[in-house]
Amino acid sequence: MRTQKFGTNGPDVSVIGQGTWYLDRGDRKAAVAALHRGIDLGMTHIDTAEMYGDAELVIADAIAGLPREKLFLVSKVLPSNASRRGTITACERSLKRLRTDHLDCYLLHWRGSYPIEETVAAFDELVAAGKIRSWGVSNFDADDLGEMLAIAGKGKIACNQVLYHLQERAIEHAVIPWCEQHGVAVVAYSPFGHNDFPSSRSKAGAMLQAIADAHEASARQVALAFLTRAPSMFAIPKASSAVHAAENAGAGNLKLSDSEIAALDKAFPRGPKPRSLPML
Ligand code: NAP
Repeated sequence: MRTQKFGTNGPDVSVIGQGTWYLDRGDRKAAVAALHRGIDLGMTHIDTAEMYGDAELVIADAIAGLPREKLFLVSKVLPSNASRRGTITACERSLKRLRTDHLDCYLLHWRGSYPIEETVAAFDELVAAGKIRSWGVSNFDADDLGEMLAIAGKGKIACNQVLYHLQERAIEHAVIPWCEQHGVAVVAYSPFGHNDFPSSRSKAGAMLQAIADAHEASARQVALAFLTRAPSMFAIPKASSAVHAAENAGAGNLKLSDSEIAALDKAFPRGPKPRSLPML
């Protein structure tokens, strides 16, 4: 599994991680086994949120007994809890549910109505207390990131987690360039389009499949390799079976050629810059 530096000051983190939204809805044993298999294969970056029902509890079962320093655990505070005190209480709740003493990164899930100064002050307090190692944001457009940077100062925002898949490339217009300029990791969520992965019966899907065949890989592995083609980019697919997790981990060593990247760029066009950042 390829790893790369997570933001300016972060550790090396697996380029392919594991999402956990809806992971609590199906067979819990299978979900724990999926996370386990993924971790075994190097997908040690695990993404969750207080919003994801019991996902934090499923993760706690999956990581019980594993060396904590090998994992990169991320959770998120809901905007409705992101006041100075609310952020701290929400983080402590997540730590308890995950049965761990710290998060590697803690994110504001999306921008809400609490002043971001308050959330930043809480994040700084959590860092000082050793409860989080770093913090970041999610669903922030370039102008929101600029505001956050002005408040927090350089080198503080570890990542921006954003919607990014072959059929939704809006972040390429302004968000990725901003993040690369300021040393902020870009984490692609819903990298398979949530539940809308291109069919090989479509023209673009057939091209994706042809590239996959050339690498003896799967179309999903090629999609993940495309989304993590730059040193700033990570992806967090969610899988509820060990078979799916293993397939996704296989993307961690797949390198596409420049001509394959150009072909995918053409088959799945970026499109014009939307007025606001798309999110799920
Ligand atoms: P996703 O990862 O794009 O897609 C998940 C779907 O793909 C599931 O139906 C899953 O099926 C299927 N899948 C996964 N691996 C597969 C494989 N190898 N072969 C066939 N199917 C496969 O969707 P997502 O869950 O929306 O996004 C990923 C993660 O990003 C979330 O879980 C969450 O952690 C994060 N996220 C963050 C935000 C935010 O606002 N920050 C928003 C959305 C998502 P199975 O479950 O059956 O394996």
